[in-house]
Amino acid sequence: MSTELHHYIHGQKVAGTSGRFSPVFNPTTGEQSGSLPLATADEVAAAVASAVSVLPEWAGASPVMRARVMFRFKALIEQNMDALATMLSNEHGKVLSDAKGSIQRGLEVVEFACGIPHLMKGEYSAGVSRGIDLYSMRQPLGVVAGITPFNFPAMVPMWMFGVAVACGCPFILKPSEKDPSVPLRLAELMLEAGAPEGVLNVVNGDKVAVDALIEHPDVQAISFVGSTPIAQYVYERAASHGKRVQAMGGAKNHMVVMPDADMDQAVDALMGAAYGSAGERCMAVSVAVAVGDAGERLVERLKPRVEALKVGPSLDPESEMGPLVTREHLEKVRGYVDLGVREGADLVVDGRGFGLQGYENGHFMGGCLFDHVTPDMRIYREEIFGPVLSMVRAPDFDAALRLPNEHEFGNGVAIFTRDGDAAREFTDRVQVGMVGVNVPIPVPLSFYSFGGWKRSAFGDMNQHGPDGVRFYTRIKTVTSRWPAGIRAGADFNMPTVS
Ligand code: NAD
Repeated sequence: MSTELHHYIHGQKVAGTSGRFSPVFNPTTGEQSGSLPLATADEVAAAVASAVSVLPEWAGASPVMRARVMFRFKALIEQNMDALATMLSNEHGKVLSDAKGSIQRGLEVVEFACGIPHLMKGEYSAGVSRGIDLYSMRQPLGVVAGITPFNFPAMVPMWMFGVAVACGCPFILKPSEKDPSVPLRLAELMLEAGAPEGVLNVVNGDKVAVDALIEHPDVQAISFVGSTPIAQYVYERAASHGKRVQAMGGAKNHMVVMPDADMDQAVDALMGAAYGSAGERCMAVSVAVAVGDAGERLVERLKPRVEALKVGPSLDPESEMGPLVTREHLEKVRGYVDLGVREGADLVVDGRGFGLQGYENGHFMGGCLFDHVTPDMRIYREEIFGPVLSMVRAPDFDAALRLPNEHEFGNGVAIFTRDGDAAREFTDRVQVGMVGVNVPIPVPLSFYSFGGWKRSAFGDMNQHGPDGVRFYTRIKTVTSRWPAGIRAGADFNMPTVS
């Protein structure tokens, strides 16, 4: 059964008026489960007007009071964890335990935001000149908006609105049209937690809604996470409209395995990082770089493990990997595997033909493993975003280091080694924003910030953590003197410290 979904504006479910809809699927069955209205510019304007109306109250509220709302929101997420994770699995296709993990990682940003009274503290210098005090304060930026990808429908929205709302900024979320039910539910829970109507609005839509947010004069900042071409588009367009922008893009994350690494540990790490969430993670490892004689030892261990991957329904506790998000995406990923074969890579494990009895219309494929991939191949250069791991052979450390350094993306990278010197040199010289040493998916915790380099991120500030607070606030600096009756007359020179 397919239900008609809605927007969520000023504490109300609002039906769409555009007459344009996008289908939402259950990837396990392949059946349409929902019909999502795509917003008009007027519907976006209504969401912005709602946020503007609550701005004085919310920005003017004590940070302690805002933190209390975040505490209650955290408790509500915990109480609703099972229902949220099930909803997420049913629209995304990732397995239930992974769905819970992703919600938890978003919740950690909410926990960070509970410390907002401390995080928004300013600076104060008494007596910087005779009788003069100087202080700075962080003030909320105003109404802000976030545009999020399909692969983390709970975590990435919480990265953004968790911090923005705590900072005092009413937030308009434009989630992915592929899995909108969890974001809509999060907005209801924020209201239940005590956030006034309009503090978190959700407008569903496509480019029309995104452009309307970018162009709206009352939106002060745009936070974007998604693919690189759209990230660049949003960055450039929003900046040209005078907005503050952070726009995270795609990735091709390498994991370098040195010959001295513990190969069993490296294989465990590769399995989880390449095939978890069917490879639909911006921090998934999609390239294994085998240094020296590590290649043969890795392939002989990886091949049986990839063949034995338990692919199944997302809600089956036995499943290690679920289906891909849409049939269209499944076809795209299979197309990349076909391309890799044509390009001359060695397809060691072929998951293209995988099917599951009883779920013939589900978006399933098995894990794929390529060996002897080279940097000129498109399967190496482009983001596949599926359960496909490419192994590249490198003769030595320097050749291995050149691979991530010369790649256009620079989101995450890892090195597996027992050699502290090699690890230290790697972390120093690698041109990538997030680095793991014997950690395959080095996603920073919420009290650090998340962000890649090169074409994986546009803008100066990273997501969440201290950069999130900087992004959603602006500094006002006050120079203050209380003269005690002395009249010195006009001073026509630049004042200097005396
Ligand atoms: P996407 O770029 O297709 O969509 C992201 C958002 O942009 C969605 O809300 C979508 O509705 C909107 N959008 C799509 N086309 C648009 C257009 N032409 N104009 C304006 N808006 C548009 O990305 P996706 O497929 O949902 O997500 C997967 C991508 O996101 C991958 O490339 C992945 O690496 C990336 N990602 C990056 C990070 C990171 O932090 N770097 C995190 C998660 C995902």
